[in-house]
Amino acid sequence: MSAGPPAHATVLVVEDDPGMSRFLRDCLADAGHRVSLAQDGQAALQELGRRHVDLLILDLGLPDLDGMALIQTIREWEASPLILVVSARGQDSDKVAALRAGADDYLAKPFSLQELLARVEARLRRLTRAGEEPVMISASLRLDLAASQVVRDGVPVRLTPMEQGVLRELLRHRGRVRTHREILAAVWGPAFTAEHTYVRTIVQRLRLKLEADPAHPRWLTTVPGVGYLWQDSLTVEAEGQPPR
Ligand code: CA
Repeated sequence: MSAGPPAHATVLVVEDDPGMSRFLRDCLADAGHRVSLAQDGQAALQELGRRHVDLLILDLGLPDLDGMALIQTIREWEASPLILVVSARGQDSDKVAALRAGADDYLAKPFSLQELLARVEARLRRLTRAGEEPVMISASLRLDLAASQVVRDGVPVRLTPMEQGVLRELLRHRGRVRTHREILAAVWGPAFTAEHTYVRTIVQRLRLKLEADPAHPRWLTTVPGVGYLWQDSLTVEAEGQPPR
């Protein structure tokens, strides 16, 4: 991945005030980010389950649940996304409580546009440095190969080095097919490109460890006669529902 702030981060704005929500969306979109909106906590959780989000911008005062509870829920099942709180609650005690609950940053309303964008950029720059290896997150599955962490339904999963190698190769090219030969060459080495059973065995083991239904994999799919494909979460989502 490139150094410097990512030009096209995926940002989810969780805010029930339509004017503020539109303002944030327009500013962030102008700065080059992909922005989606959620008007309450439930919509935010659904959105986070459907797609990878780099940064969450969160208003604490939501109609259905308290933003603090939302932070705690998100932090229970994954370490990402980054969470930037924007709140009318400007007391130091509010800030401390939000940061303790797992927020990464806190901006009191009213705030200036420059300050918001500077905070967002600073947060995303840190994310880029940390994210040199593929990180894939859904509601039930978190894969962070740089940290050698795989968590399914909140439970850490142990992978062998070869399983990690195959997973890394597929994740690096997620959304695109990798042939048996390409996977073998990348993980075992160029002398092993005929050993298709190696790949098949590892893929079966990965499915047992990572898929909710290994017989009908959602993520690690077979392309018959060609190889394997790790489904991009955005592709999976696009088949169900149009992006906002
Ligand atoms: Ca609010």
